[in-house]
Amino acid sequence: MTPLFWHKEALKRKDELLKELKNLLSIESILDESTASAEAPFGQKIAEALGYVLELGKREGFQTKNVDGYAGHIEYGEGEEIIGVLSHIDVVPPGDGWTTPPFSPEIRDGKLYARGALDDKGPTIAAYFALKIVKELGLPLSKRVRLIVGADEESRWRCMAHYFEKETMPVMGFSPDADFPIISAEKGFFDIKAVGFNDKKETPDDGWSLVQFKSGERVNMVPDYAEVKLSVEGDVFELKGKVQDYLLTHQIQGYAEERDEGVAIVMKGKAHHGMDPDKGVNAALAMARFLARLPLDQEGATYISMINDLLVDSFFGEKLGISMEDEFMGRLTVNAGVFDYEQDGKRLVRLNIRYPKGGDAEEILQAVEKKLSRYHLKIVEVDHKPIHYVDKEHTLINTLSRVYEEQTGEKAELLAIGGVTYARVLDTGVAFGPLFPESVETAHQRDEFIDINELLKTTAIYAQAIYELAK
Ligand SMILES: [Zn+2]
Repeated sequence: MTPLFWHKEALKRKDELLKELKNLLSIESILDESTASAEAPFGQKIAEALGYVLELGKREGFQTKNVDGYAGHIEYGEGEEIIGVLSHIDVVPPGDGWTTPPFSPEIRDGKLYARGALDDKGPTIAAYFALKIVKELGLPLSKRVRLIVGADEESRWRCMAHYFEKETMPVMGFSPDADFPIISAEKGFFDIKAVGFNDKKETPDDGWSLVQFKSGERVNMVPDYAEVKLSVEGDVFELKGKVQDYLLTHQIQGYAEERDEGVAIVMKGKAHHGMDPDKGVNAALAMARFLARLPLDQEGATYISMINDLLVDSFFGEKLGISMEDEFMGRLTVNAGVFDYEQDGKRLVRLNIRYPKGGDAEEILQAVEKKLSRYHLKIVEVDHKPIHYVDKEHTLINTLSRVYEEQTGEKAELLAIGGVTYARVLDTGVAFGPLFPESVETAHQRDEFIDINELLKTTAIYAQAIYELAK
């Protein structure tokens, strides 16, 4: 069977595929706990969307199963082992400014516009039609294929936690919820929260006291705003001048103003995803670099030293003593995401650390713990997600690479990312599509769309992939 063969099979089903996809896209499947019930843990609309997909399969004579409204599967094939294809039907809220209503799918210039068209209802329907093609061709399989459809990917992944408590883990599989060619490695990561308490309250004779330092809301984002309050013991005029000089020489937006018998300083940076902390401008780090030049009260100085000694100009863990690099997966990264300091209360810092293959989770954590303790900070919360990695020699990689190369004529480069994909739910899983290297990424944006030619190309690739993996 030539690549063209699979493409023709997809093309034959174009109208039917678009019809079903439009129906699915019309359901506003946004998480809504207010309409949740025992059978619909994420709300009525998500339950409706999950039911719609499973019903499609049932109608065509597939085995289907709804696992308590958390997730479900559509199954085809024979044999002991299971190949998993993992997608989701929940979507993020649409936001404003759409050209046409987000839940009234519309085709313009060969693109289908709707919330979820790309992430991840389009790929879900592509995977379903891929399975349908294999079934309708009557191709013999030696394994079972399960299209596993989750209902909580966009928030807390409770769908898959629940599903795999009850159902067998596939021997291998892929998730159509990211990029082609193949994402085979995802860094491990830590979210660390460290806290200390300020007790001594002595004010220097000639200088300033750090009353408050606030920056950042989410640990996995580079903070673009930092605000500090200082009490005035020194010369306010001189301080404002120093702030102006610093902002100018470092080309940072911001200002200083007198406020509540003190001085407030604001600095602005550039937000970015925490997996590439060096690509944003961290407002908190810029602020700390400035404050290091001032004579501060002892407690305040300790906090500011911590930031300068451990985090400033150190996006790859150099100052924390944890830097490392893997040839394929890249460098360890540290995002300093949240800062909170109150002279009368606590000091806090939250870090997001992503590490490549070769990193020992326990060692990294211990090193960070030791460094922070010198500044009277204690780690009180750790959220850890291990590295997700499939060896490049694995059958899964070989098969998907071959299918991708045959159908696109392009080399199937393996990708390693700092982010997270749904594939890590599988013990042995990779992300495989739906975005081609040349595609436009519109997931979570207004006017989200999927290109219809690409959707059909994806369907053909998935059909061959399913067949090759399960034959
Ligand atoms: Zn998704």
